[in-house]
Amino acid sequence: MEREEWDFIAVGSGGGALCAAMVLGRAGKRVLVLEKEPLLGGTTALSGGVMWIPNNRFMREEGVPDSREQALAYLDATVGDHPDLPAASRARREAYVDAAPRMVDFLVEQGVTLRRIPSWPDYQDAPGASIPGRTVVSTLYDLNRLGPWKEKLRPGFLPLPANLDEAMQLPLFKRSWQGKKVLLKVVGRTLLSRLRGRHLATAGQALVAQLLRKALDAGAEVRTGTPVEELVEEGGRITGVVARVDGRAVRLRARLGVLLNAGGFARNQAVRDRWLPGTKASWSATAPGDTGEMILEAARHGALLGQLDEFVGNPTTELPGATTPPAMQGDLAKPHSLVVDQSGARFMKEAASYTDICKAILQRNRTVPAIPCYLIMDARYLDTYMLAGTMPGRNKPKTWFEQGVLVAADSLEALAAKLGLPPERLVATVERFNRFCRQGRDEDFGRGSFAYDEWLGDPLHEPSHTLGAVEQPPFFAMRIYPGDVSTHGGVVTDEWGRVVREDGGPIPGLYATGVTCASVFGRASVGAGSNIGPALTWAWRAAHHALGDT
Ligand SMILES: Cc1cc2nc3c(=O)[nH]c(=O)nc-3n(C[C@H](O)[C@H](O)[C@H](O)COP(=O)(O)OP(=O)(O)OC[C@H]3O[C@@H](n4cnc5c(N)ncnc54)[C@H](O)[C@@H]3O)c2cc1C
Repeated sequence: MEREEWDFIAVGSGGGALCAAMVLGRAGKRVLVLEKEPLLGGTTALSGGVMWIPNNRFMREEGVPDSREQALAYLDATVGDHPDLPAASRARREAYVDAAPRMVDFLVEQGVTLRRIPSWPDYQDAPGASIPGRTVVSTLYDLNRLGPWKEKLRPGFLPLPANLDEAMQLPLFKRSWQGKKVLLKVVGRTLLSRLRGRHLATAGQALVAQLLRKALDAGAEVRTGTPVEELVEEGGRITGVVARVDGRAVRLRARLGVLLNAGGFARNQAVRDRWLPGTKASWSATAPGDTGEMILEAARHGALLGQLDEFVGNPTTELPGATTPPAMQGDLAKPHSLVVDQSGARFMKEAASYTDICKAILQRNRTVPAIPCYLIMDARYLDTYMLAGTMPGRNKPKTWFEQGVLVAADSLEALAAKLGLPPERLVATVERFNRFCRQGRDEDFGRGSFAYDEWLGDPLHEPSHTLGAVEQPPFFAMRIYPGDVSTHGGVVTDEWGRVVREDGGPIPGLYATGVTCASVFGRASVGAGSNIGPALTWAWRAAHHALGDT
């Protein structure tokens, strides 16, 4: 078998791999990043690219209060200590809170341009929560700075050169001056950047592009279309990998270590059936390479696995002909709508985090059929808000109605009959919900009682951005499924990102990051960026450990 010698090998090309490549490359080490897909960046490139970084430099610069203690209090309250969740231990949480802001400092020092989003509340109403939020994102980035690598980068989910906070205001352009201002700004920027020969990217694609540029500048070698098939173990240490290069198996030695940044298993139905039964790969918005083989390969070498039933949710629907399941969390948070199960009852706070919503659906489905559940909307909703990525208005694609994706009726009774729900139950549920809307307090699930509930609602709807009665006919219903943007369980790692065995000891030479690992946040959905923040942070820690810099 052909052989190559490297100092460090990263499997997969998420943000963590590129961050580690920057650290090791800057230290003069020979780093190889192997990506099996023809395009780089995995789900990270497709994503918002938001990182949850407590106590970060941008908060300090902007006078937003936070501290190590406040962040740990929040994680203690939301994640807590559970003997069956070693990846979310107090020691790991502390390591994260200490390392994440330092990782961001490192990126900034290397010339990666980042910023915080002014308002993105933490997801849980718990001690230590930050209401302005702890998010850090990439600024817009000119892809032309990648030269020929531009063609190898996975496209992002937002084709416009708009920052995420701007993108969230765009749907308001017909209804508010602020929305119009943002639209003009984005249109102006688009035209100007074209005139200047720039190709501006945003969100996760911009983050990956910046990291890729810096990793290449640091001397890292990056190969696409190169799947890793095996880890090589010698005397109890992982010493390299076997990868497929042009149809040949090649043994690649890694003197200092191997970092698994190979994503989760969201696209592998067989593995999902085992650990996330009742969910479908087709509801996942992840990149196609998210098939989990490196988690299984690490397990074959004795890695402890954890939190395999965890996932990062994404309430979605099945649209005819769609290649990517639409993200519908924002749709569920808008006024003049509520969600019911197949008995016609409400069962959750519709304005919760994407993960909490999907977990509530799966949980409910154990006792009452709730897959699909139904988003019930009135005419005002359809007239005012986007639905499953379409512009406001009742004129939805004919196939939606033909295939029962969207159902319309002149009364709630008739809607219930069409959906096969008990009509009296649906009417009673909606009447109760409408009473809560009128009194401004959701007695059943507390919708609207916390800053985050309001955040994805309608900022122009008063007094609540999320509570609005469902009362104007015709009524509509759309099926909702518990989709995902990632699985969130995998190999268990320690405070240095080292993969550990059943006995808690590390497997020498093997590191992991991103959603290949069990999350440091355990079963909690803490805030925006709780995948990519840790992905980069643990990789940064692992790179330092591999350098002996601990
Ligand atoms: C639309 C959308 C928006 C999102 N927004 C956010 C957000 O703002 N913040 C956040 O924290 N999370 C967000 N998420 C979730 C987040 O994107 C993912 O959880 C995260 O990017 C996973 O990163 P990763 O580095 O673990 O894996 P990835 O970025 O998926 O990278 C893994 C790579 O490994 C490659 N690979 C797999 N197996 C092999 C192999 N055997 N050999 C070689 N290569 C291999 C894969 O092809 C892939 O390219 C979002 C997701 C979506 C879909």
